[in-house]
Amino acid sequence: MRFDVVTIFPAMVEQALSAGIVGRAIERGTLAVRVHDLRAFTTDRHHVVDDVPYGGGPGMVLKPEPIFRALDAIAADGETAPTVILTSPQGTRLTQEVATRLSRSARLTIVCGRYEGVDERVRGRVDEEISIGDYVLSGGELPALVIVDSVARLIPGVVGDERSVAEDSFSRGLLDFPQYTRPAELASDRWDESAPAAGLKVPDVLLSGNHAEIRRWRKREAVSRTLARRPDLLASAALDDEEREILRQLAAAPEAP
Ligand code: SAH
Repeated sequence: MRFDVVTIFPAMVEQALSAGIVGRAIERGTLAVRVHDLRAFTTDRHHVVDDVPYGGGPGMVLKPEPIFRALDAIAADGETAPTVILTSPQGTRLTQEVATRLSRSARLTIVCGRYEGVDERVRGRVDEEISIGDYVLSGGELPALVIVDSVARLIPGVVGDERSVAEDSFSRGLLDFPQYTRPAELASDRWDESAPAAGLKVPDVLLSGNHAEIRRWRKREAVSRTLARRPDLLASAALDDEEREILRQLAAAPEAP
């Protein structure tokens, strides 16, 4: 899959994409990400990308022509036409479902706004506006990174073990079960050694080696967490028979907190 990101801060995007799972997928060639400096698509001597808003008011607006030129150049560079996304707090809210849909595109081009946003006419060249949540950021770079990361994880071969993607929170409408690693018991959760020992133990079932029990425990934890924290997810969750039964039991006899 190929991503193109249009930004006035290319270093900010490149730096973040070089680390971790996404960085490795780029190195291996499973993903291609090209970051384009919007200023390279200006024609004036000073590489101006913004201008004052018509009608007055505070702030600046990203000019349309450099963005149009960038989109033309990106579309011309490759055989398939990209799906063009504008980052915007006014867009469709990004969810795992939206990320899954976007991961089916062969190419995504993401435009990062800045200042008061982009000239409204850019919207005519955009297939979809995406918001990463109901808050306003100072630019579309962080949203672009969030989109690239959430979509990239869903592309086969990007995450080493695909089971971990299938078990992730939201993948089936359930939150993930709790995870523990060594040591099996912590004497204290405080740096102060004189503090009373908290006895922070990993649940016995996870040390039991009984895989059927572990699987059941994890299902129960995932269902009970989702019920406690995000009951809204359960309405559309794809539960199996066992999970439905767990949910029925939990709803009938809620555990004491
Ligand atoms: N005045 C605009 C906000 C501009 S914020 C408005 O109220 O709609 C500047 C840029 O940051 C936006 O153009 C967009 O690209 C990006 N941005 C800010 N918040 C965002 C969010 N929640 N999701 C996606 N992009 C966002």
